[in-house]
Formats: sequence, structure tokens, C-alpha cells
Amino acid sequence: MAFELPKLAYEYNALEPHVDARTMEIHHSKHHNAYVTNLNNAIAGTDTEKLSLEEICKNISKHPVAVRNNGGGHYNHSMFWNILSGTPSSPSAELAAAIESDLGGMDKFKEEFNKAATTRFGSGWAWLSVNADKKLVVSSTPNQDNPLMDVADVKGTPILGLDVWEHAYYLHYQNRRPDYIGAFWNVINWTEVSRMYAEAVK
Ligand code: MN
Repeated sequence: MAFELPKLAYEYNALEPHVDARTMEIHHSKHHNAYVTNLNNAIAGTDTEKLSLEEICKNISKHPVAVRNNGGGHYNHSMFWNILSGTPSSPSAELAAAIESDLGGMDKFKEEFNKAATTRFGSGWAWLSVNADKKLVVSSTPNQDNPLMDVADVKGTPILGLDVWEHAYYLHYQNRRPDYIGAFWNVINWTEVSRMYAEAVK
């Protein structure tokens, strides 16, 4: 079955002023849509069509580069839309406790995550993941790679990701990636991140 572009749970303008509507529209309807189309083209008529996106990512080294780039692009963006919201929320007690014990608290976590996002050279993502020991880890990946992939330096189940490709912020922030990263903290859907955390530590 072919992969499909997911619908957003909110309007394109829901994250303003932190992420502008025009950026959201182009990012979702053009960039993400292209990853889905190119992924479907890359796997058409192959056994990969029978696999889930997670299964594809976990063995990504066995797939052609078009599947890595576009499968990663589809996974990463689908998750990204879900962890954003215009409605304020807070981490669950369990997630807050893990941020405290595994990462030294919310301030230190923010500092580490912002550094990962800021220092990722060129295009890529910053991540908060749950590793094999069920601990929270912060990392970044190049291009459309993600921590699920067998090629990732830091592996885990992603529960929060930030797109730092220029297409994610250039219209509104131009070269000011740190301002975009700072604004991101205002639009995190902690309810969804907490749900994924609970799922990942089961
Ligand atoms: Mn993107």
C-alpha cells in the first residue's frame, strides 16, 4: 500500500507567530508531499512496499539512498506535525521525572537540545529519544536520517524532533536559526510527546 501525506490536526496558521502559516503550508503540502511521492516511486514494485515505515527505518542500510532520504523525510515530518501545537501543554509527571533524572532537568535539557539543533551543520534534525536502556538521550542527525535508523550514531525511539532544514524557517527567520529554535519551545505538544514517551518505555 502506498504511503500517504497525513492531514494536520490543526490549521496552517495555528502556530503563529512562532511558525508562520506560509512556511507551514509550503513545508507540509510541498516538501513533505514530495518525500511521500518520491518514497512511493522508490519502492514501487519492490518488497519494501510490504514494510512499515518503522521497519524500513530500522534496516535503512539495506535500502537505496532514495528510500533513506524520502522514507526518513516521511517519518520525520509525520512525527514533527504531531509534536507541534498552538495550545500550551506540559510534560507528564513521568516524562518530567525522566528529564530530571536522565538529562539533569528541563533547563539542561533545553540547553543540550538547542546546542544539538544549532550546531547541526547544513540540513538535519535535533532529537529527544528513548534509548535501549529506556533512558532519554539528545542527539542530532544529518539530512533526513533519524535515531530509528541502523546508521544513526545515537539510536533510540524518537519522541521529539526539530527540523532544522532552512525550508523549515527561512521565510520568517532567514538565517536566524537560533531564533527559530527558541520559538520552537512555545509550540511543543507535550501531551503527544508524553504519550510517545509512555509508549517507548513500556
Ligand atoms: Mn522539513
